[in-house]
This record gives sequence, structure tokens and C-alpha cells, in this order.
Amino acid sequence: MLQIVRDPTTGLDRLVLSRLPTPLDPAPKLASALGVAQLSVKREDLSGYALGGNKLRQLDFILAEALAAGADILVTTAGSQSNFCRSLAGAAAKLGLGCHLHLRAATGTALVGNLLLDEILGAAITFTQVTDPWDPQITQELAEIADNYERQGRKPFIVQLTGVSAATAVAGWMSGAAELLRDAEAGPGIPDVVISVCGSGLSLAGLALGFKHLSCPARLVGISAQQPAARLKAWIVTAADEAATRLGLSCRLTAEDFDIVDSEIGPGYGKPSAASLSAVRLAGRTEGLLLDPIYTGKGLAGLQAALRAGLVRPEHSVIFVHSGGTPGLFAHAEAFGADRAA
Ligand SMILES: *Cc1c(COP(=O)(O)O)cnc(C)c1O
Repeated sequence: MLQIVRDPTTGLDRLVLSRLPTPLDPAPKLASALGVAQLSVKREDLSGYALGGNKLRQLDFILAEALAAGADILVTTAGSQSNFCRSLAGAAAKLGLGCHLHLRAATGTALVGNLLLDEILGAAITFTQVTDPWDPQITQELAEIADNYERQGRKPFIVQLTGVSAATAVAGWMSGAAELLRDAEAGPGIPDVVISVCGSGLSLAGLALGFKHLSCPARLVGISAQQPAARLKAWIVTAADEAATRLGLSCRLTAEDFDIVDSEIGPGYGKPSAASLSAVRLAGRTEGLLLDPIYTGKGLAGLQAALRAGLVRPEHSVIFVHSGGTPGLFAHAEAFGADRAA
């Protein structure tokens, strides 16, 4: 049965679709391989339906808004291997809503990985030639798709993480910050550092705003998988501001409240790097923990980079947010093969 509750941290309504709290698992062998005193992994990859991931918390809030608006079809855009789109398609199927994914063709059109799962989950799929998720052209294309559905008598609801849905997505992870703090207090203690890998940066914005709002002293280090640090920082602060205003918070996030490491983007967004492939193997072999080479593998490589740079120190206790992404792993089998042969 569909359950809607009031989230105590943000005061917003949320659906109870994701399976929370996610586990916080100790990773002692990975900690010693990396050279940090203590390491725990927040298992967002286990957040529930359709293979989980860090978007499910955000969708709990975004979809409460969609249902309140009377939506019968969700319309969104992202890269063709987007974990977010797969999660949205899964949620739509669970809720009995339609789902239209307008995907960036440049990130691949082969029916593998998340794109295969989108099809299995019943989403309608079209492709766009736009390559930058912040390009206003994509907002225009989404509006046209929604207009078409409206002319057919449907009630479309546009979900756009880089646009209308940003503040709600931030709120989703602000609530996640409160959960992470509760886990830490009940388990390993408040960490010195929390590592979270960034695409759009909205989940980090929510974590950072949540930490500030809850006076948590842990330092947040975001590992960029997509954008240069300056652009990512600016967008995170903007998105957090919008959320803080909407939620009526007295605190505001500043660029000094968190760090961004952007040395691990490698050959580009959505493409494995030598360091990410090696990090995926390291987590697999030390902890039986499966990462992916385009997000969480870069996140772990970023933790290694942060250690080299002194942002994280050997005496630190660290929480690594496993943001999901494993469903995309098999779309990169060839990169692993080439890497082994080399
Ligand atoms: C989307 C995603 C991220 C990045 O989250 P943002 O909120 O976009 O920064 C990280 N890891 C995985 C697996 C994701 O799907």
C-alpha cells in the first residue's frame, strides 16, 4: 500500500518507496589497503527497488510532489546509462505511472546496462542530441514532450535534476544526512570525513546542507565524476540555497563548507579511467564490495587522491557513501578486459 509520511528533517512529504535506513557496513580490510584508521560504507546501493542507488531517497520526495500534482506520466532526461532514469522507471512501474525517458544519445544507445533495465521496466525511450544536461535546449525538449502528452489528455510531470527538481532532490539527501548521522552515532562514531561521489552534485548539496543544519563536524569531500571543481561548487551552493530558502532554514551553505576533488574525472563523464577500474577491483577483492567504474570507482580513486593530497589523513575515520551504480557495471565489461590485457 502507498504510504506518505512527513519527513522530520525537512518537513516535506515523502513516499515510503525506498528501503531505509540503508546499512552502514564496516570495511576494515579496505581501510588497511587504503591506509586509513577506520572506514565504513553507507550502502545506498541497497536502498530498495530496481537495484537501488542514491536517487531513491530523492525520488521519495519528488514523487510525493508528482502524486500531489495528480501526475499520470513522469518525463525526465539524463545520459543513456543514467542510474536516475532507471530508478525513476522502477518507481513509475511500482506506482502504476507512465515514464518517458529522453536520453542523451551521445552516451550510447546500445541496449545494455541501465538502458536495458529502462526497457525492462517499461519506460518509453527517446533520444536527444543535446550533450550538456544544463543546456536550456533540453528543458525546451522536455516541455515539448510534456505538451504532447497533455494534448493526449495525460497529466505529465517533468522531473529534471538540473532544473525544476533540484531543490527537492537536495531535500532528499538532507534527510539522508540525518540518517547517516544517526548510523554513525549508533556505530563507528561521527567520522572525520565523509566521501561522496558527485555527478550533478545534488546529493552532496543535501548532505552538506544537512550536516550544517544538524551541526555535524564531519568534513565532506566530494569526488567529481563529471564537472570541474569550480563549476560543481558553484552549482552545489546554488542548489543548496534554493533548497534552504524553500525549507525556510536559517543556515546557508558556502563553498568553504566542503571540498571537491576533481582529479578523477579521467577521460570524461561516463567513461572508466585506469584508476577507477583499479579501485573497483580493490573493493571487490578486499571486501566483496561491488563498485562501478564511472561513479563509485572514481569515488574510491578520489579517496585515494584525497589521502595523497592530505585532505584525508591516515588517522582519520571515514564514511564512504556507496551511491549505487553497480547495474551499469556490465556495460563496461570491455574496459575491464582491455585493462587486464594491457
Ligand atoms: C547520480 C549518481 C551519483 C551522483 O549523484 P549526484 O547527486 O548527481 O551528484 C553518484 N553515484 C551514482 C551511482 C549515481 O547514480
